[in-house]
Amino acid sequence: MKILVTGAAGFIGHAVSKELAKDNEVMAIDNFNNYYSPNLKNIRAKELSELGIHVKDLSLEHLFKIEKNYKPELVVHLAAQPGVRISYKNYDKYLKCNIDGFKSLLDFCVERKVSKVVYASSSSVYGDSELPSKESDACNPKSLYGFTKLFNESMSKIYSNEFDISMIGLRFFTIYGPYGRPDMAYFSFTNSIQKKDEIVLFNQGSMSREMTYIDDAVEGAMLAIKRLMKKGCINEIYNIGSDHTITTIELLNKIERMLSMSSRIKQEESDAEVLSTCSNLQQSKHELGYNPKISIEEGLDNFLKWKIDYDRKN
Ligand code: NAD
Repeated sequence: MKILVTGAAGFIGHAVSKELAKDNEVMAIDNFNNYYSPNLKNIRAKELSELGIHVKDLSLEHLFKIEKNYKPELVVHLAAQPGVRISYKNYDKYLKCNIDGFKSLLDFCVERKVSKVVYASSSSVYGDSELPSKESDACNPKSLYGFTKLFNESMSKIYSNEFDISMIGLRFFTIYGPYGRPDMAYFSFTNSIQKKDEIVLFNQGSMSREMTYIDDAVEGAMLAIKRLMKKGCINEIYNIGSDHTITTIELLNKIERMLSMSSRIKQEESDAEVLSTCSNLQQSKHELGYNPKISIEEGLDNFLKWKIDYDRKN
């Protein structure tokens, strides 16, 4: 099947593209922006090129530059400006990438008659709602980033209705693992411990996150694709989580133990982020057949092994 993947040099995009490359014809795009190390994005892209996928350097707003006769059967949309903490300070960037970019993508799908799209939403759409969060809960995002993702979900409904595009949005819960994002806590804690830098720990480390290993997230995306290919016109949302919730201090202590190193902590108070995330996975288990398997210990161990090797080579 012909599939277009956006954000393919990103963390999740790279992993999903690798899986799709096994039995599909993948076209991949990414604008290689410098939100975090473009070197890491280049490494992911190089790995994909060894599998026959060339990641085109292209922004969402320029999708129309893709040759006119290219008509994928499916788009997997993973390009976005992520990051919850900084989003309110970067209003224009988040709106341009996550809202205008999403609209460009949907217009591209209409123009090229693409009738199936899987796209990344986020657990950030829930905000401080009652836990565990389920797909039918009222959403009250706490960050601009979360609002952009919720807006994407609303836009997807409009395009599904108007243009018969079947769409599944995946609300990812803190995805982590090898090739991960350096701005996320598990990665930046590891960096700081290794470099003996001070770590700013918010709210005494009492905030908690449901952490989902990258292989489980990829499995969730594959199951969503399978459902889209089987069913007629639908517009659905699924939680992609793990059932493993961990506080920030527990996460930090685990990484310290695994590295046999200790951290230097500076305590700060902050209410910029939600206190906890926790998913109800009933719907994704029942309708997608989603069944996350990797424990935090196994996932962190895989990440740390990869990180030590990555540091040695770069
Ligand atoms: P990432 O930043 O590693 O990947 C996104 C990629 O998109 C990057 O390589 C970036 O260069 C590219 N990109 C950004 N703007 C672009 C544009 N306008 N045109 C083309 N490419 C562009 O992030 P990720 O963690 O892989 O996240 C993938 C998706 O999943 C995003 O939509 C993100 O919001 C969502 N998500 C991720 C997590 C997580 O924990 N990683 C959680 C919830 C949701």
